[in-house]
Amino acid sequence: MKISCNIIRDMLPLYAENMASQDTREIVEEHIASCENCKKQLEEMRTPEELPIDNDITLLKNIQNTLRREKLQTIILSVMVTLVLAVITMAYLTAPAYISYNENAISIIERDDGTVLLNFSEEVSGFDVNQSPAADNSGYVYDITTWETIWDQKISKNNLENTVLNPNGETVDSIYYYNTDGSENILMYGDPITDGSVVTLPRLVLNYYVMFAIGFLLICGIGLAIFRKNEKIRNGLEKIILLPISYLFAHLLIMGLRSTSYLAGRDFYAILLVAISLYCALIAGRNILKKLSNKKPKSTL
Ligand SMILES: [Zn+2]
Repeated sequence: MKISCNIIRDMLPLYAENMASQDTREIVEEHIASCENCKKQLEEMRTPEELPIDNDITLLKNIQNTLRREKLQTIILSVMVTLVLAVITMAYLTAPAYISYNENAISIIERDDGTVLLNFSEEVSGFDVNQSPAADNSGYVYDITTWETIWDQKISKNNLENTVLNPNGETVDSIYYYNTDGSENILMYGDPITDGSVVTLPRLVLNYYVMFAIGFLLICGIGLAIFRKNEKIRNGLEKIILLPISYLFAHLLIMGLRSTSYLAGRDFYAILLVAISLYCALIAGRNILKKLSNKKPKSTL
């Protein structure tokens, strides 16, 4: 029996959708091998219909872009939150636990060439030295303290190198060990600088930064209250006010309620790192919140 093109065309839809039986497939394939018209028909069935060009497409594209931006912001937010947690963890692991004075923690070796060597025991993770000229200008007075960290105890056994106290040959008048509990400094080497007691005090600089941040926060707060009706200024102020908020939060996370520090430099950098990542997280979070609250009224338009 001769199979006409019409019969083949009835079969083509099934064939194109891969729903035809093996027998039908064979018949169709045999036919289109020798019939250009039916082959063409099949190819047309297989090319997908082009989407009608419509204004809806730009709308779809906009939605797609918005979704992409939101996704990006969510990613930034999670990265920043992770960063904050990582910095806090690192700050905690490397937070100095001060070692109160004991003769084993640190020993002082005087060498023939006039240099003075500090030799630390294994428990010491780090040390701090303050150098100040002696009252009679005969040389220098050194205040030293040492500490250990959880990081060094539990994770890496980093042995502290011996350190030359006066690499440029300064005269070492006396060396004191200071404790961070407010108790008297202990003379380790040389002559006492006064007849009375010497106490090294923690630095107050972080205290000033906190006060500055609080002042800045108040100014921004007042600005927000004044300009709450001006959307442009309010938007800008909302972004700026997050700066002191981030700093104060970071301070709280790193220092707790303390604001004095014997290692103000280290603590300040840790606070700054947390504050920066916290700020980015807050900005990303704010944008996401803004978008969510904008979405509801928009969908009713
Ligand atoms: Zn045909």
